Parts: sequence; C-alpha cells; structure tokens
Amino acid sequence: MTQFDLTEDQRAIQDMARRFTADAITPFAAEWDEKHIFPRDAIRAAAELGFGSIYVSEASGGIGLGRLEAALIMEAMAYGCPSTSAFISIHNMASWMIDRFGSQAVKDKYLPAMVTMARMGSYCLTEAGSGSDAAALKTQAVREGDHYVVTGSKQFISGGGENDIYVVMVRTGEEGPKGISCLVIEKDMPGVSFGAQERKLGWHSQPTAQVNFDGVRVPADNLVGGEGEGFRIAMMGLDGGRLNIGACSLGGAQRCIDEAVAYSKERKQFGQAIADFQNTQFMLADMQTELEAARTLLYAAAVKVTDNAPDKTRFAAMAKRFATDTGSSVVDRALQLHGGYGYLMDYPIERFWRDLRVHSILEGTNQVMRMIIARDMLRQG
Ligand SMILES: Cc1cc2nc3c(=O)[nH]c(=O)nc-3n(C[C@H](O)[C@H](O)[C@H](O)COP(=O)(O)OP(=O)(O)OC[C@H]3O[C@@H](n4cnc5c(N)ncnc54)[C@H](O)[C@@H]3O)c2cc1C
Repeated sequence: MTQFDLTEDQRAIQDMARRFTADAITPFAAEWDEKHIFPRDAIRAAAELGFGSIYVSEASGGIGLGRLEAALIMEAMAYGCPSTSAFISIHNMASWMIDRFGSQAVKDKYLPAMVTMARMGSYCLTEAGSGSDAAALKTQAVREGDHYVVTGSKQFISGGGENDIYVVMVRTGEEGPKGISCLVIEKDMPGVSFGAQERKLGWHSQPTAQVNFDGVRVPADNLVGGEGEGFRIAMMGLDGGRLNIGACSLGGAQRCIDEAVAYSKERKQFGQAIADFQNTQFMLADMQTELEAARTLLYAAAVKVTDNAPDKTRFAAMAKRFATDTGSSVVDRALQLHGGYGYLMDYPIERFWRDLRVHSILEGTNQVMRMIIARDMLRQG
C-alpha cells in the first residue's frame, strides 16, 4: 500500500544516513572524482551501519529493512556522491539475490563477508553483444560432474577487477530467458580475468571493467536458484536496483537544488542577487516541484516492491524512468543557474551532472523502462 509520509523509524534511518554522508562522503567526494579514487574505507564504514546489506535478511546477518528504507539511504548518500552510493546499491542487489534465492550452503559461504563488505559483490548481466536485449546473453556454463565450466565475457561491470564476488547470469540451456541461470563466481577462481578499467564521463569513484571467464570451474553449489531461473532472479534484483538508482538521482538533484538556492542568493548581477529575478525563482520552484513528484512516485514504488505487489515491476520502471530523467533535468538547470561557474570543477554541480547522466542508461535504459511499462499496460488492458 502506498504511504504518504515517513514513519519515525524511517526518519531515524534517514537522519543516520545523512549524518554519515556529511561526515564520511561529502567532504571527500570531489577528490574521489578528480583522482579516480575508489573509497574502500568509506564504503566499509557505510557497511558498519548496515548499508551493505539493507534488505538482506537478519538471519543472514543483514539489517532486513524494506525498499523504502533502502531508497532513503541511497538518496542520502547520493547527496554527497551518487557514484559511491550507486556502487553500494549494486552490492546490495547482488547480496540480496544470494540471500533470497541461494541455498543455505551458498549463503553461509558468501554472505557473512558480504554484509560487512569485507568482500564486495558485482552484478554481471550485460555482454558486449547483449545490453538492452539481455536475454540474448551468450556466456556459457556447461555442467561437468559437480562443477560448471564457464566461458564468456561480461561488459561494463561495476566493481569489475576490484570486487571479490561476481553474481553472473550464464546460459545453461536453450536460447532466450528460460535458458539462463545465476552463478556466484569468485575473483580468484582460475580462468577469471579483467579488462582495463573503462574511462568514463562520470562515476569516477567506482571501477568499471569487462570480466572474462575462460573455462572457469565453478562448484555446482554456487548456483543461485534452480537452473533456468537466472533471468527471473536477475530481473527481480533489478526491481530494487532501479529504485536505488532513481533514489541516487533524487539525492544528487536535491544537492544541486540546495547549491543553486545558496548560489543564487549570493551571486549579484545588475545590482541585485540573481535570486531576485523572477526567472530564477520560477526555475527553482519548478525544479523542486518536479523533484518532489519524482520522489513521491519513487517512494510509492519502493513500498510496492517491499510488499511484492503485482504491479511492482511496472512501478519500479516508472519510478526509475521518471526519477532519473527528472534528476538530470534538475541538475542541468542548477548548472545553468550557476552560469559559467557551474561548468568549472570549483563547484560541485558539474560532477553531479556527469554522475547522474548514466542513470538513464544503466539498469535498463529509460527506453527499456518504457517498454516494460507499456507491455504491462497493454497486457492488462
Ligand atoms: C558505468 C556503467 C556501469 C554499468 N554497470 C553494469 C553492471 O554492474 N552490470 C551489468 O550487467 N551491466 C552494467 N552496465 C551496462 C548497462 O546496464 C547497459 O549499458 C545498458 O543496459 C544498455 O545496454 P547497451 O549499452 O548495450 O545499449 P544498447 O542496448 O545497445 O542500446 C543502445 C540504444 O538503443 C536503445 N534501444 C535498444 N533496444 C531498444 C528497443 N527495443 N526499443 C527502443 N530503443 C532501444 C537503447 O535504449 C539505447 O538508447 C553498466 C553500464 C555503464 C555505462
């Protein structure tokens, strides 16, 4: 059921995430971006608060919260650094897939170190030849006794080369979604290698690389869910991932609005603060209004995913589409209000502009979100 205000507990979680961000993320984010520093210590400090296992069950060592709480935490951390927040989101998604669908043995093997983020997890779906058409993936896993032998390559993997645990969608059967399974593969297994770190427009605080598998022997116990269930599991993971990415856009865009409000009161042209121009006021009013609309939709979608509502996937797609497009549009206007200074690295806006841009592309492009929404509408209509 949709809820229209946060509970006391949710506000406490939000406050905690905001305090953590102000102390451990915001002061350092510009340097992480400029020098491409992967902030392992700050990420592990976030995990000490439970942020590495937000919706992993308490039985598996997580903090067992819902998707709205996760969105609040991601939004708060993105106020300091969307790239770092999104990295932690992807780890949460990979951990949740193991917790929700893995056998007790695979949970015991991986989750204790993942909840503390002593070992960090990646989600591996995309391949060079299959992005939006993810079900066309080709990475093969052939069963040989009590192992799978995995050969293929995953493209654009967040955490690639740095993370220890890779939750990988592989083909074990027929073409299409029903022939896909989900396997946990470790960085150190013989035959795992990585491409060079990708050079990117944004998301500089986290690594992105190709992950290659050359005859990697993976214990059959590392299967998450049954054979043929991998695509469904991957898509369920993405319902939550999309909410988090949308939340990262909300947090980043709110930061840029706050920066624009402060700047417009300070900056004088034509003998007055630019905040006194009605154009500035109307821009700020529209930016905040549009962001609140996106926030309300995203929080409603998060409650639906927590409740496993029948329309949860449609809502997660609508929220991701709307929050990420709105976020980028808000940041662009915040940059405009900063004039030429907005374009300089002396102010944080250009970093948020670059970091938020990719949110319309990954975890399903916003065109793919429209396909998911329309397909569901037409099926029901
Ligand atoms: C920084 C970064 C990090 C990433 N991290 C991960 C990760 O951790 N794990 C992972 O698995 N993947 C990851 N990805 C991959 C990401 O999910 C894909 O890039 C994305 O799904 C799009 O796939 P593609 O790049 O192959 O684009 P394509 O699928 O080739 O799309 C190109 C364009 O065509 C459009 N298009 C495609 N099909 C249709 C259609 N049927 N109708 C209309 N338009 C269509 C798309 O919307 C897009 O505009 C990451 C990507 C980036 C850039």
